[in-house]
Amino acid sequence: MGLEIHISSIVRILGQAAIIVYAYSWVIRTVEGRALRSLAVGLLFGLGGVLSMGDPIHWMPGVFHDGRSILLVLVPIYGGPIATLVAATMMGVFRLLLGGIGAEGGTVGIVAVALTGYGLTRLPQHWIGQGWRRSVLFGVATMSSLIVLAFLPADVARELFFSATVPVTIANLLGVVLLSELLERERYRIRIQRALENEASVDPLTKLPNRRVLQREGDRCSKIAETNRIPFSIIMIDIDHFKKINDSWGHSFGDTVLARVADVIRQTIRKTDVAARYGGEEIVLLLPNTSEKFAAIVAEKIRSNVEATVLVADHERINVTVSLGIACSHQPSTNFKQILEAADKALYLAKAAGRNCVEMAKSAEMPVHNSYN
Ligand code: GH3
Ligand code: MG
Ligand code: MG
Repeated sequence: MGLEIHISSIVRILGQAAIIVYAYSWVIRTVEGRALRSLAVGLLFGLGGVLSMGDPIHWMPGVFHDGRSILLVLVPIYGGPIATLVAATMMGVFRLLLGGIGAEGGTVGIVAVALTGYGLTRLPQHWIGQGWRRSVLFGVATMSSLIVLAFLPADVARELFFSATVPVTIANLLGVVLLSELLERERYRIRIQRALENEASVDPLTKLPNRRVLQREGDRCSKIAETNRIPFSIIMIDIDHFKKINDSWGHSFGDTVLARVADVIRQTIRKTDVAARYGGEEIVLLLPNTSEKFAAIVAEKIRSNVEATVLVADHERINVTVSLGIACSHQPSTNFKQILEAADKALYLAKAAGRNCVEMAKSAEMPVHNSYN
């Protein structure tokens, strides 16, 4: 076939693939929100295509090849419709700007490959398969770029068809297989990493962050309180007579109660607050940038929302209540551990005051609140 193998070209291709995979991994790990992530992946693949088109590889006399079709056919899988639109637009505009007799056909080819790739992702999963089968299918799909031939003068098109179709298709096929293999591996690696991080930081019963996360976030709040004089508050929450609930209706029902109380707390707090499972049936709420006055409002809301929650065991309606202790950081005491201990003491006061109530730590500069009942 007379195919010259240029080591430097292959090294260049591998380098480009590595940069794309590395950048894709960074986007997936750091960009939040589906639409924004799709946009970022589109910009990345689009930029990759533009750079590749500006620096094509000369495989053999008269046969130039670039990575546009490889990136275009894969962008729907890894970025979705927004990414496909963005990448195809970037490459299409760039191809028009490059000019030449193939400008019009080249742009149509870009649209054709993007549409083919997107169309394939809309087919049922079991049709397109996974792994090698899917890669080969998408690799073959890059042949839709051959539509460019219809826009060229007949003699040029014929010559190009016989000289370039096979090598370009093989290069695209290998490129799609290589890049999708690398991207898949990266996606798998990120998924495993996230699952491990989740396992190490989330309590499986309540789905709340665990004590480790609380400690980390608490230390962060302490530092901010110390340097910027922005206070934070802690609410310690404990289910009343939980042992009795377990003893009367079983441990499994106790678990349900715990998960339900966690749900109520989750629904009551702000996005920036951290509710963590601290111990058995104790949940600690960390409220950054919050004074004791606002913390007292939040605590009372949680108390009344839990009280209003009705659970059913053995056809019996059961009301659960919680007691809450509040402490707020005050200069000079911004130490997380000390504030937590103060909240614990306030909780003890709430228990002593008859339960189902909120108490403020004595160290707070606010007047001491007695029961909110
Ligand atoms: P108080 O009103 O004074 O808080 O009384 P209490 O019964 O809630 O407090 P106590 O500390 O005596 O009992 C806590 C119980 O919580 C004992 C323990 O078996 C139970 N517990 C701890 N973790 C879990 C859990 O994950 N699931 C269930 N079902 N029970 C738990
Ligand atoms: Mg309790
Ligand atoms: Mg307890």
